[in-house]
Amino acid sequence: MKINLKDLTILKAHEALKRGDFTAVELTQAYLDEIKKKNKDVNAYLEVFDVAIESAKAADKIIKSGKGGMLTGIPCGIKDNILIQGQIASAASNILQKYRAPYDATVTSRLKAEGVVFLGRTNMDEFAMGGSTENSAYGVTKNPLDLNRVAGGSSGGSAAAVAMDGALFALGSDTGGSIRQPASFCGVVGLKPTYGAVSRYGVMAMGSSLDQIGPIGKTVSDCEIVFNAIRGKDIKDGTTIDEQTYKYQISNIKYQSGDRKPTIGVPRHFLGGDGIDKSVMEAFEKSLVQFKEKGYEIKEVKLPNISYALMVYYIVMPAEVSSNMARYDGMRFGLHVDGKDGIEDYFKTRKAGLGREVIRRILLGTYVLSSGYYDAYYNRANAVRRMITNDFLKAFESVDLIATPTAPSPAFKIGEKTSDPLSMYLEDIFTVTANITGMPAISVPCGFAKKDGKDLPIGLQLTATHGAEETIFRAGKEFLGSE
Ligand code: GLN
Repeated sequence: MKINLKDLTILKAHEALKRGDFTAVELTQAYLDEIKKKNKDVNAYLEVFDVAIESAKAADKIIKSGKGGMLTGIPCGIKDNILIQGQIASAASNILQKYRAPYDATVTSRLKAEGVVFLGRTNMDEFAMGGSTENSAYGVTKNPLDLNRVAGGSSGGSAAAVAMDGALFALGSDTGGSIRQPASFCGVVGLKPTYGAVSRYGVMAMGSSLDQIGPIGKTVSDCEIVFNAIRGKDIKDGTTIDEQTYKYQISNIKYQSGDRKPTIGVPRHFLGGDGIDKSVMEAFEKSLVQFKEKGYEIKEVKLPNISYALMVYYIVMPAEVSSNMARYDGMRFGLHVDGKDGIEDYFKTRKAGLGREVIRRILLGTYVLSSGYYDAYYNRANAVRRMITNDFLKAFESVDLIATPTAPSPAFKIGEKTSDPLSMYLEDIFTVTANITGMPAISVPCGFAKKDGKDLPIGLQLTATHGAEETIFRAGKEFLGSE
């Protein structure tokens, strides 16, 4: 039977698998066929796993026995910086081209326990540094909706895989927008959970105080299902939140599901800049009208320090990057290039193995952490980080959600921003705040921009306070008017 992948969601596939409309093997094969057809052009996957069919067979057995869960037999893509034991995990870098994961990331083992089928590893910006997947050492991921444009980044492969019907969902990582911005560019849904909601054990660290793993899917419900499967305390990641703390966070949330519609705050003062594409603001305003029509109250909120967020991010993130990247020294992981002594080995390995953007960030990070500059840059950025978090906490005393566009523009052309890192960094203006504050945020499709005769998706971002994913899910579902 021919499976209609276009209309399929996790929820629908789960029902169909349970009913026996198709098997997990047939479903997996349908995705593999689609990937075979489209991946040459899109380059969403760096590798498709031979074992996918085997794990689908195992999933079928579980489903037949009646013990299957929501995700049993559901095919997914995994970003190339998340470890799957025995598989290569290159973070789209030359330095880890042949590196095989010696163990499973916690998210991987949780998905395996659910009987999820891993289709392959998805392309990304090298070590997740970028916003277009153009920094991948293995070629750019193209936007399935317009092959002349980027799919966004850094989880561009994951978003494109879902958008091209090459997976029912995919995992990404988000340090400054890497789940939400590509989701926005590809017309799918992407969730960055609360910091500490999902274990980071087994994801290659970029900015450890900012990183979170999260799902990219076609609907809000699908992202919710995956989030619930991967979240929770993990003793291997000391920053994960235990149930008690989580419940305490939740008990402090003013909006409790069911009571009333969440109130949405809009930081108008931050949305007036001319760097925002007209089509984005139009779609954004329309979204607010839609919310109003559905009975939501919209209020203006002030976030006095939000204009510093991007600067704070581009100090704190490279500082953490420079320290996290020190482990790729040619001795412990991946590539090793011989020099005349140990020091030269380092230089040669890192020069051969790392791309320009990664090197740029290591240099920036080393600079802001160096003695004499540490106070002026790093410490000050951390102080402002706290002020921005306080601004959000204050705003959440009067609203339940804060809405902004996800990105200032729809998908841009391949090559358009590669020669100007600063214009690429500006792409992150709306997304970095959720990482700086540790708050959860989602991107949902909210309209299209007509460019070069193509309809390019636009994303709406909803941010909530710590632990309030529930509020995000409710509003997101009502907004999309689906599951
Ligand atoms: N585009 C942002 C950056 O380049 C975000 C990256 C990320 O979230 N991993 O830093």
